[in-house]
Amino acid sequence: MDLVNMSTHFKKVTEDFICEFCYRVVKGDGYTNHCPHCLISKHVDELIPGDRKSTCGGLMKPIASQIKSGRFIVFHRCTKCNKMTRNKAGKNDNVELLIELSTKPVKTPNQ
Ligand SMILES: [Zn+2]
Ligand SMILES: [Zn+2]
Repeated sequence: MDLVNMSTHFKKVTEDFICEFCYRVVKGDGYTNHCPHCLISKHVDELIPGDRKSTCGGLMKPIASQIKSGRFIVFHRCTKCNKMTRNKAGKNDNVELLIELSTKPVKTPNQ
């Protein structure tokens, strides 16, 4: 029995997955959970990105983007429960799509 050392076995999770929208294989880098090709995400996080606490599982569509400190921020809305999230765009994300999204007005529930 070596329960004390259990915590040292924690690893950053890098999940490869197949995009449910464009069916391309997405190489997980442990940070982004959206598809770099179509920017579709899945509703798996509840409060903090990466917490994987949501049981919704709906597809999250990119609805807008913004540039902050030289990096794109992508806004997603869940097609199932309408929850909005903000995510940093990854290095390999579809820049053309990001630029197209940045021309759309961001409508958040607080505005
Ligand atoms: Zn995709
Ligand atoms: Zn949802």
